[in-house]
Amino acid sequence: MVKLGSVENPLRVAIVGAGPSGFYAISHFLKQKELHVELDLFDRLPTPYGLVRAGVAPDHQKDKWVTRAYAKSAAQPNVRFFGNVEYGKHIHMADLQAHYHQVIFTNGAPTDRDLGIAGENLAGSYSATDFVAWYNGHPDYADYQFDLSQERVAIVGVGNVAVDVARILCKSMEQLQGTDIADHALQALQHSRVKQVYLLGRRGPAQAAFTPPEIKALGELAEADIAISADDARVDALSQAAMDAHPDKNVEKNVGFITEYSQRPQRIKNKQLTLRFLVSPTEILGEAGKVTAIKLMHNEIYDAGDNLIRARATGVEEVLPVGVVFRSVGYQGVPLDGIPFDARSSTISHQQGRVVTAEGQPLPGLYTAGWIKRGPTGVIGTNKTCAQETVACMVEDLQAGVHFNPAEPGVAAIEALIESRQPRFVTYADWLKIDEAEIARGEAQRRPRVKFVNVDEMLDIAGR
Ligand code: NAP
Repeated sequence: MVKLGSVENPLRVAIVGAGPSGFYAISHFLKQKELHVELDLFDRLPTPYGLVRAGVAPDHQKDKWVTRAYAKSAAQPNVRFFGNVEYGKHIHMADLQAHYHQVIFTNGAPTDRDLGIAGENLAGSYSATDFVAWYNGHPDYADYQFDLSQERVAIVGVGNVAVDVARILCKSMEQLQGTDIADHALQALQHSRVKQVYLLGRRGPAQAAFTPPEIKALGELAEADIAISADDARVDALSQAAMDAHPDKNVEKNVGFITEYSQRPQRIKNKQLTLRFLVSPTEILGEAGKVTAIKLMHNEIYDAGDNLIRARATGVEEVLPVGVVFRSVGYQGVPLDGIPFDARSSTISHQQGRVVTAEGQPLPGLYTAGWIKRGPTGVIGTNKTCAQETVACMVEDLQAGVHFNPAEPGVAAIEALIESRQPRFVTYADWLKIDEAEIARGEAQRRPRVKFVNVDEMLDIAGR
């Protein structure tokens, strides 16, 4: 029997999800010079790069440069892309077991968390991640409508997604025009009447989830003043003690920016962005089915033990009139057919990236990396170390002889199967045609690209 992982008998790996963690899994495999591996990358969209394309804000083009490294991986002869192919619809676990030695799920966290309060379903109450997908031209969200005719908007949560949404709402047309924001979003934002944006944190400035460059940028907006009251900016004694005991540069920088903003003098710009802390939404209020206000409970900080600082209600309530609410309290993973799922963390059950049963038994051949492994946290680069841990386990298991024994490991067999299930699958060469066409459309308008937001249109360009 020829050794698995040799030229004659390459290891065949399926990667489900073509976002950063999928590409980092590929690059870690490509570094294993002794190993002969064939890597097939699947994505339900015709386009690769996951949230780098559909999540990273359009005015953060430099963050998208990581795709240059991903493109180099994708160009390797032993890497193939099967776009427009969905796990659970076009391919199933039995198919992957029949064609691959190992399967790694890197499909991210495609939905978001609810607040679980009354009024959440009123018109004008939106998910921030839907808004992000919409302005980034994700095809599933292209037809969404967001009411930007309202002057006052509340964003619940103070993570980087909330900051992205606030920035997009506050930036000028001139600033957005030069980005790859979706055309439909650019048109809608052109008519935006938004003037007052509130960012609402349930804990204090020292617990804000945004990172220093993001909060810094909010203080540099050409069209919007940032406003924070001295009360909101104050770090309570408990948080200060925690900061002294466990110094954290990011926390210190965040608090520094917040303090500075609270001391800024007059407000003169067209728009105002107000940062509030120690408030939790308890209800979204409406009239005739439409958001009119958000009810807030004032909080205080308390020590929840184990170095945890939490917020609890003081009993003081406030009604903040707003016409739109974005909830921005985190992405969420969803279960995949046939894969053990931890409902508490909304992640695949795993140990170091090896998929395990509810009882902790490893399921040979199955792995995970990225947000569906560890939850929706960290920046793009966090997925690199995350994928590295998983790929190390995959290599270790290969050496121990732990893997699927596929009946049809040949390249042609899986291609024939996909052709039969989804004739309009997209190869990497096809994606390059879409990419080229988007960039060409962008050149005419001095933009990095003008995205196609319709799958059929993309497939036509790709010649599929
Ligand atoms: P996040 O960083 O987890 O922030 C979620 C925010 O929602 C926190 O402020 C959290 O407060 C709050 N929250 C949670 N449940 C709440 C509730 N029931 N009521 C009120 N507030 C609640 O999530 P995210 O902003 O969606 O970002 C996801 C990940 O992507 C993060 O790692 C982020 O850094 C990353 N990202 C990075 C960038 C960038 O680098 N520019 C851009 C976008 C996203 P608590 O802290 O009190 O729980």
